[in-house]
Amino acid sequence: MSITDSLDRMNKPNKEHTRIGIMGGTFDPIHYGHLVIAEQIRCEYNLEKVIFIPAGTPPHKSNLRVTDSKHRYFMTILATITNPYFEVSKIELESEEVSYTIHTIEKLKKVYREDTDLYFITGADAICELDTWKNVERLTKLCKFIAATRPGLERSQVDAKINELKETYNASIGKIDLPALAISSTDIRNRIREGQSIKYLLPEPVEYYIYKNNLYKEV
Ligand code: NAP
Repeated sequence: MSITDSLDRMNKPNKEHTRIGIMGGTFDPIHYGHLVIAEQIRCEYNLEKVIFIPAGTPPHKSNLRVTDSKHRYFMTILATITNPYFEVSKIELESEEVSYTIHTIEKLKKVYREDTDLYFITGADAICELDTWKNVERLTKLCKFIAATRPGLERSQVDAKINELKETYNASIGKIDLPALAISSTDIRNRIREGQSIKYLLPEPVEYYIYKNNLYKEV
């Protein structure tokens, strides 16, 4: 487990600035992959806390079926409750509108001190499409990014894309590789549909919540 591409020297820990991680994703459902990444980055970047923000209506997914936000929120709470450095925010779930990251980050910037460093953590596949995100120029000025890769992603392509984004937007984008963690929400959903075990892929309370609420049974 290693952070292969740490942030630029100017972005190294600065004790005077509060540093907060923002864990963005659909979390449909949340699993150990997300939790390990968040904890690893918290320690590596000396973050005060990591706020998990389940996406309301995720951009790029308005045509896809996503589990009711209430369930994704509860599962995220159950998964994070034992870590005192983890929080969950409803900020993107309270609006019917598509949740653009720029709006979320702008809201957080008003809550925390102006000089707080925000690290937006999400999957490398999503980060590779950063140039299609709303107001990307402003967004890259307001927060730093950390892209989590997983086995199956073509590393050289991800690296090339990240370098291109860094140059184009003068963006700060770090990367974390967790080769041993191939867990994915899609795989968990497929396993449930096919009646296979999901034990040890996600926290037990989340597993029970899924069964109790009959989630992911239908295609
Ligand atoms: P997603 O489907 O949740 O995730 C895309 C990929 O990244 C999947 O492989 C996913 O794995 C992985 N992933 C998701 N969240 C992760 C996390 N926090 N740490 C590590 N891996 C993670 O992606 P999405 O919902 O489209 O987008 C992710 C985030 O980017 C959301 O917060 C979304 O709002 C934001 N976003 C914003 C814009 C915009 O502002 N225009 C556009 C696109 C995305 P799993 O399936 O296993 O989770």
